[in-house]
Amino acid sequence: MAVREILKYPDPRLRVKAKRVREVDASVQRLVDDLVDTMRAANGVGLAATQVGVPLRVAVVEPRDGQVIVLINPEIVKTSGQRRVEEACLSIPGYWGELTRSEAVVVRALDRNGREFRLKASGLLAQALEHEIDHLNGILYIDRLDRPEDLHQVEAEPEEAAT
Ligand code: ZN
Repeated sequence: MAVREILKYPDPRLRVKAKRVREVDASVQRLVDDLVDTMRAANGVGLAATQVGVPLRVAVVEPRDGQVIVLINPEIVKTSGQRRVEEACLSIPGYWGELTRSEAVVVRALDRNGREFRLKASGLLAQALEHEIDHLNGILYIDRLDRPEDLHQVEAEPEEAAT
């Protein structure tokens, strides 16, 4: 297991449409474990393989109050409702945006052992799932802003501003 480097916008590898995983083997499981380590080291709630330069359809999500969800070849099979959300991305540090996401989603994917599962999610978890699956299609949240003014710069923390 290892913490990998997270690519930052505008790295062109963030725009790659990732390929489906053909077989969930040991190398894919190692990638999953690295994604979890890297996500936690960055204090994130989700991370996609494209963010560490691996063009495979693999992502992890870890809601604050939940356990890690491993997503291999995830597909959104259903969405419902819409809500305005605030969103940020580990690949676009220093910014956050306001955009519209689904209220609820149903996702189908394979788990770390290659077993298919379905997940029904709403709220923050649905938002995280849409965000990570977007990454696997080379889409960033900044592509989903209605207008440029919906992108905001994070106010610098006093200690950060001092260094
Ligand atoms: Zn992201």
